[in-house]
Amino acid sequence: MREAVVAFVGLGANLGDAPQALQDAIAALGQLPSTRVVQSSRIYRSAPVDASGPDYFNAVAQLETALDAPGLLRHLQAIEQAAGRERPYHHAPRTLDLDLLLYGSARIDSARLTVPHPRLRERAFVLLPLRELAPALVSDADLAAVAGQRITP
Ligand code: ADP
Ligand code: MG
Repeated sequence: MREAVVAFVGLGANLGDAPQALQDAIAALGQLPSTRVVQSSRIYRSAPVDASGPDYFNAVAQLETALDAPGLLRHLQAIEQAAGRERPYHHAPRTLDLDLLLYGSARIDSARLTVPHPRLRERAFVLLPLRELAPALVSDADLAAVAGQRITP
């Protein structure tokens, strides 16, 4: 087996029973091959960014995985599909959104996958839960830059 890598996954949902969708998704992450969930953040509630619809519920999960990054992304998309996600348009409300935030120290820029996630530092709903799990990865300046965004644990 390849060596395990620490990866962080951002979870979001704003349709149906969104907190339950996040719990189910974290359980599904724990079922992926060669992968374990090291820890997951509290669930946060945030106002939609660049989007309409109900408030979002967000969390971040820390994984240890031997999947490669494209393989992990495919599994994340399969979990989204299984949760009934449709993509009628960009930024549409969704039952479940899973983003690969960080994959070890990898920098990836392919057509299908950009890591670190390009909007990671623009979003309070990523930075707050990520800081809970990995304080060294999120600076005070990062948090100050998103201080205007409405979010509560
Ligand atoms: P968003 O999360 O930006 O609202 P989507 O979830 O619909 O939008 O993702 C659109 C595309 O983003 C996917 O087809 C996927 O290939 C691509 N993508 C690029 N980088 C990443 C990443 N780090 N994590 C998840 N998806 C990514
Ligand atoms: Mg996404």
